[in-house]
Amino acid sequence: MSSHPSPTTAASGGPRPATRASRVLVLNSGSSSVKYQLLDMRDSSRLAVGLVERIGEETSRLKHTPLTGGRTREQVGPIADHDAALKAVATELAADGLGLDSAELAAIGHRVVHGGQRFTEPTVVDDAVLAEIERLIPVAPLHNPANLTGIRTAMALRPDLPQVAVFDTAFHTTMPESAARYAIDVRTADEHRIRRYGFHGTSHAYVSRETARLLGKAPEDVNVIVLHLGNGASASAVRGGRCVDTSMGLTPLEGLVMGTRSGDVDPAVIFHLQRVGGMSTDEIDTLLNKRSGLIGLCGDNDMREIRRRVDEGDEQARLAFDIYIHRLKKYIGAYYAVLGRVDAVAFTAGVGENAAPVREAAVAGLEQLGLVVDGDLNAVRSGEPRLISPRDARVAVAVVPTDEELEIATQTYALVGESGGSGAGLGEGNA
Ligand code: AMP
Repeated sequence: MSSHPSPTTAASGGPRPATRASRVLVLNSGSSSVKYQLLDMRDSSRLAVGLVERIGEETSRLKHTPLTGGRTREQVGPIADHDAALKAVATELAADGLGLDSAELAAIGHRVVHGGQRFTEPTVVDDAVLAEIERLIPVAPLHNPANLTGIRTAMALRPDLPQVAVFDTAFHTTMPESAARYAIDVRTADEHRIRRYGFHGTSHAYVSRETARLLGKAPEDVNVIVLHLGNGASASAVRGGRCVDTSMGLTPLEGLVMGTRSGDVDPAVIFHLQRVGGMSTDEIDTLLNKRSGLIGLCGDNDMREIRRRVDEGDEQARLAFDIYIHRLKKYIGAYYAVLGRVDAVAFTAGVGENAAPVREAAVAGLEQLGLVVDGDLNAVRSGEPRLISPRDARVAVAVVPTDEELEIATQTYALVGESGGSGAGLGEGNA
């Protein structure tokens, strides 16, 4: 599906600059927020990071941090829409000498949550790609519209620049049909595009590759179980660099216990709540997505707070923690069986990177599978990829910080590397 646009040279006219444009802007557009990072791909360094939130409200907030020197700047005040938000970001970047009109900018990489079956790779956006992302809105009603708005806004701002969509689902498109299909009537499933797509794909791709690097091996030679444990949480089984199973499904609701999502439940719970509980579809949707998981079980979704309560002897928090760990362990066991041979289990995201008790409990009792955590190594706090299993362990247990923005920038830059960076500037007043 991916196609390179012909490199635009309209505004540059003359010969290409000798040095290739090396910056990539990464945009993660939500319904009322835009997160962004500007990276220099010569050394993958960050030039600036920031966030616009509460777009469309009176109290919108823009927080911008230049990483080339200078302090974080914050402004609060109405930002009407994504167009205004991106223009405000462009102004902030320009103030640091990093304007979006710069010939240094090679491309803009966009996180797109749902790419369905069609987008198996990062893709340069054109009208056909926009139409396909739009067609997928029924399976990603919360995310794809916001992602599309972000892309369209960026296209209007820099029409000459390649815009690349990097899909959360893409890494999982290698799953075999046996893992990707639900056991429901095939015609009904196909008619409504019901299958397991999986999410957090950029994170699973990045972390599985970094885990191989940590082991000093090529991704093709390593089987990894990746546990992405953030507020949303998902597991994946990665064989030789390719995903063969993942815990999220048609939507991010399936699988592990999450901050506010239930993860796996018997689908009949829904019929029961409708028939016996008198709840509407929307009410059940809200219940399972927003009022379940850790917050539904104990009133807190922050693992730090839950651990504090557990340490104080709070029974409700203890039960929530135990249910969380029980599910996690079941997925580790399931993916061990799916892979047959496991070289590493990698913990990542907010909980996975920071919560030593979660890592310890998830692996406890799995010595027969070769899984052991060293207490001292597990207690070390660090932002670096590291092993927490003993030296002689049969299976490596690792903590590998995820970096979805870097992965999006890397994929974007790899795609436009040859054709991107037109050297064309923005029209006056756009920055
Ligand atoms: P993420 O979605 O990856 O940003 O992860 C956010 C979650 O990480 C929070 O809701 C917390 O539950 C968890 N978290 C962040 N820092 C810590 C920490 N130091 N210890 C335990 N959990 C943490």
